[in-house]
Amino acid sequence: MGTINRAVVVGGSLAGLRAAQTLRQEGFAGDLTVVSAESHLPYNRPPLSKSVLNGDDDVALPGAGEVDCRWIRGRRAVRLATGAGPSAGTGTVVLDDGTPLSFDGLVIATGARPRRFPAEQAPLEGVHVLRTIEDALALRASLDAGPDHVVVIGGGFVGGEVASTAREKGLAVTLIDAAPLPMVRALSAHAAGWLARHHKENGVELISGVRVTALEGERRVSGVRLDDGRLIPASLVVAGLGVVPNTEWLDGSGIRVEGGVVTTATLFASGLPNVVAAGDVVRWPHELFGGELVRGEHWAIANDQAALAARNLLRGPAEAEPFTDVPSFSTYVHRARVQSAGLPHLADETRIVARSESDGSLAVALARAGVLVGAATINGHKYLMRLRRAIAARTPVSEVVL
Ligand SMILES: Cc1cc2nc3c(=O)[nH]c(=O)nc-3n(C[C@H](O)[C@H](O)[C@H](O)COP(=O)(O)OP(=O)(O)OC[C@H]3O[C@@H](n4cnc5c(N)ncnc54)[C@H](O)[C@@H]3O)c2cc1C
Repeated sequence: MGTINRAVVVGGSLAGLRAAQTLRQEGFAGDLTVVSAESHLPYNRPPLSKSVLNGDDDVALPGAGEVDCRWIRGRRAVRLATGAGPSAGTGTVVLDDGTPLSFDGLVIATGARPRRFPAEQAPLEGVHVLRTIEDALALRASLDAGPDHVVVIGGGFVGGEVASTAREKGLAVTLIDAAPLPMVRALSAHAAGWLARHHKENGVELISGVRVTALEGERRVSGVRLDDGRLIPASLVVAGLGVVPNTEWLDGSGIRVEGGVVTTATLFASGLPNVVAAGDVVRWPHELFGGELVRGEHWAIANDQAALAARNLLRGPAEAEPFTDVPSFSTYVHRARVQSAGLPHLADETRIVARSESDGSLAVALARAGVLVGAATINGHKYLMRLRRAIAARTPVSEVVL
């Protein structure tokens, strides 16, 4: 173990919680402070676009509240000094009320926030984003009020799940996506084509390959203007436009930020031996994919990466391990299980490796230069698990057998 006595974790959600838990599990006995901009203890976000919208409020994260640490809730870190010269090895996080927190070990776990429409459109009523429990409860109330026409902008997993839930509630839904097929980057063209048909078969009006240029309405949103000139009527809009990593508080700190905090493969920020980062805020070079910088937006990455980041912080850079987990995610859209693993967008070759009419399953293997780099499955969890292991083993696509 290194010489850390005062550890600070900034961000008190999944990654922050796992980092704090791991520091203690690994025997760290010094001061431990977790700073969280939210007023709640850590909670689980995946149910926010699923069961919460259907009335189930269980978002508990096991172990939240049981960590032996000081939680500072409802406060935001606004500045970081990493320490240089005589103070090398120590640093200070400054909070929005001016409180300085000095540390000799720091975990950056500030995640991401939804990308929003330009400020001039924000005041319109009836426009929702979905990231926090407050967002989910507000959206649920609006969906339960029975809006005439729900427009979901963005066909990613949050948009797809919201569209699916709104259809289950019997609402008219239009899904607008800028890509030619929903989730094509994460699923590849074949599986994304299946998903597009699935949305349509379940009553979603899918408009692909167009961008929204404006939200229209007086006080409340009444329509969505597209870049081809069309106006889509809307009484409720859900913007699933992707996320922006929460890195502004690192401006001027010297930490490298480019679409997220860029770390080493072992999750150290800008080569600093006492600062690690984990979760949705991180872009790390993935050794399996030739050092490609990857930013995950997946529960399992935040969970597992935070644990490794905490262990690496205690061990120090010389004994640290790289984070090499194969990214994967899972979503349910109109009762179909849609999953992906690896980095499908890197692929130059697609092979259908399983397809069954009887149970509606599909498995697609995706390769670059003959080696498996990604996979996508529909109703094929067992296939995805096998393909994920094959990606980790750098299996030639010609040898994939399911
Ligand atoms: C609606 C929804 C559904 C999802 N469904 C799935 C799913 O089905 N499967 C899946 O794998 N993943 C899913 N995810 C993604 C998963 O929840 C995230 O990957 C995970 O929450 C990332 O955790 P994190 O701790 O890195 O970041 P976050 O959860 O974003 O937490 C970061 C925390 O840091 C706080 N913070 C930010 N800036 C500061 C600051 N300056 N000072 C102090 N605190 C700060 C934030 O308020 C927040 O509490 C879903 C996400 C959403 C929003």
